[in-house]
Amino acid sequence: MKDSASHNNESTATKKEKFLRAVKTLVKIYYPNIRLDDFPSYKLVRDRVVHPIGILVSIVLSQNTSDKNAGIALQRLKERIGNYLDPNKLKELSAEELEEIIKPSGMQRQKSRTIINILREFGGDPDALMVEDPVRLRERLLRIEGVGPKTADVFLLFVRGYPTFPMDTHIRRFLERMGIGRRNEPYEKLQERVLQLLPRDPKFLLAAHLAIIIHGREICKARNPLCRKCVINSFCPYHKRNKAQEPKR
Ligand code: SF4
Repeated sequence: MKDSASHNNESTATKKEKFLRAVKTLVKIYYPNIRLDDFPSYKLVRDRVVHPIGILVSIVLSQNTSDKNAGIALQRLKERIGNYLDPNKLKELSAEELEEIIKPSGMQRQKSRTIINILREFGGDPDALMVEDPVRLRERLLRIEGVGPKTADVFLLFVRGYPTFPMDTHIRRFLERMGIGRRNEPYEKLQERVLQLLPRDPKFLLAAHLAIIIHGREICKARNPLCRKCVINSFCPYHKRNKAQEPKR
């Protein structure tokens, strides 16, 4: 008979394996069919026609809003200063002008200040975003008022190809339901655990980040997740717990 320690180890191993299989399934299903318009910052990276500071600005615009509204604000900014989002042209805008342009993304005053802070930090040294050691760059980004760990990690993964895992509300909810994270767990602590469970391949981590967000928007919704339709419900502890109570559709 197995002792309790080995039983626990086995359970942990099984949980990890199920999580990895679930994420791989989501990547396989969602990533090949991704709609770039649903991810404005990622679309900029794929288009390869925007200054890195412009990409960082687009990530700031996507904070606490829908990608649709972030996309509208980004388009207005492009119409004003050009598709390349040149930092020198950005610098010419006053805080009020910037606020007005990015208004559709919400929290425009705060975002305008963050963009100005970014320009102060990197405007005279724009190459640093592309060449600085990623760990040091992350520290530098986090010292900018208005730039949080998610914004920094999205930039590092999307633009620098650094193997990290940015987490938004969809991803955190998914991790909680899959039994990997806890509600309100500190960002870095949860991220470290996830990075131990997933392959340290930036391409996979990027695909997993985008796939889980799509899954969260379409199936694993905040309210009334569509567990019966979910392709990974056999791996999901939340579904297992709630199966008996879930109303039949
Ligand atoms: S089974 Fe339900 S809770 Fe679990 S991942 Fe799927 S939609 Fe989310």
